[in-house]
Amino acid sequence: NRRFLLMRRPEGTPEEIDFALQSSEIPAPPPGGIVVRNRFASLDPAQRGWMDDAESYMPPIPLGDPVRATTVGVVHASDNPDFAVGQWVMGLNALEDYSVASPGGFTMPIDADAVASPSNYLSALGAVGLTAYFGLLEVAQPQAGETLLVSGAAGAVGSAVGQIGKIKGCRVVGIAGGPEKCRRLIDDYGFDAAIDYKGKDHEALVEAIAEAAPDGANMVFENVGGPVMEAEVFNLAHHARIVLCGLISEYNAPEKVGLRNLWQVLARRATIHGFLIADYAERFAEGGAQMAQWLAEGKLRMDEDVQKGLENAYPAFMRLFTGANTGKLVLKIA
Ligand code: NDP
Repeated sequence: NRRFLLMRRPEGTPEEIDFALQSSEIPAPPPGGIVVRNRFASLDPAQRGWMDDAESYMPPIPLGDPVRATTVGVVHASDNPDFAVGQWVMGLNALEDYSVASPGGFTMPIDADAVASPSNYLSALGAVGLTAYFGLLEVAQPQAGETLLVSGAAGAVGSAVGQIGKIKGCRVVGIAGGPEKCRRLIDDYGFDAAIDYKGKDHEALVEAIAEAAPDGANMVFENVGGPVMEAEVFNLAHHARIVLCGLISEYNAPEKVGLRNLWQVLARRATIHGFLIADYAERFAEGGAQMAQWLAEGKLRMDEDVQKGLENAYPAFMRLFTGANTGKLVLKIA
């Protein structure tokens, strides 16, 4: 049982020596629990936060433990009549070949035959797709004709947010890094306008957003924070709704600076709403059914960037922070 362990808390950008790949015995199921043979693991920006010893919505990953991750896999051994050996499941596990799922934890059966790849339960039909779905529809409540501004727009969450915004009749403007990602925003995801934030100073970014959203943004779906968000707030329509979903530009920063220009939020009577997908756990089936329908109808596209092998967990994870990932980043374990 190979396990990708957190050995040291990263200071700033994670380094390879913060982690170690070690082998141990395949575990046995605890009373009432199961052992899952992991096949795919989700690599998420949130894992960077779980590596810090900081107060958050979840306890930090203990040093020496495998890196916590949502995985999909097959039941390998079971002491629970609700989970048969061979059944596909999804759960909050770790970057390891085999995970123990105790009773009462978050493990649910999935229908692997209903999808192109079981990894779809980590992308469109998983937390990422549902983050876009509930974050946009429940928090921002888009109305047809409104302008939606999305940062991290070519990523997993952002690309889905923009497409759902289009389904709801909005003008959708995306901000992403580099000309190729901007091309994909228009050609692959149907955004109305795309802005490359790279190589633009504050004034140039403010101006580029103003050109793409001349009446201001009624909604901002924020995945990035930092200088990108500081330019966005100068382009808020009055009473804009900002869904604060992520701040990836800060995750590796030793010191979190926060939003400068907060005054613009006040002057424009905007609302910033912190969002966590975990709060919608009881409605996952509902959101998943709608996402599956849009996928089947060809109204929604979710790309996956599948990297292979637990031994590549470190370079694969770092793709999120260099922007190398092209779609939902997934690690194929077996
Ligand atoms: P993505 O697929 O969007 O990958 C991360 C992307 O972030 C990169 O491709 C890169 O794109 C961009 N990025 C990285 N560093 C920076 C930077 N310094 N400045 C600007 N952009 C940067 O990841 P996800 O879709 O999984 O996650 C997107 C966001 O959603 C994250 O902030 C994440 O924490 C958040 N999230 C929040 C949830 C919640 O419940 N609140 C649930 C799930 C995700 P580029 O090339 O364009 O720079």
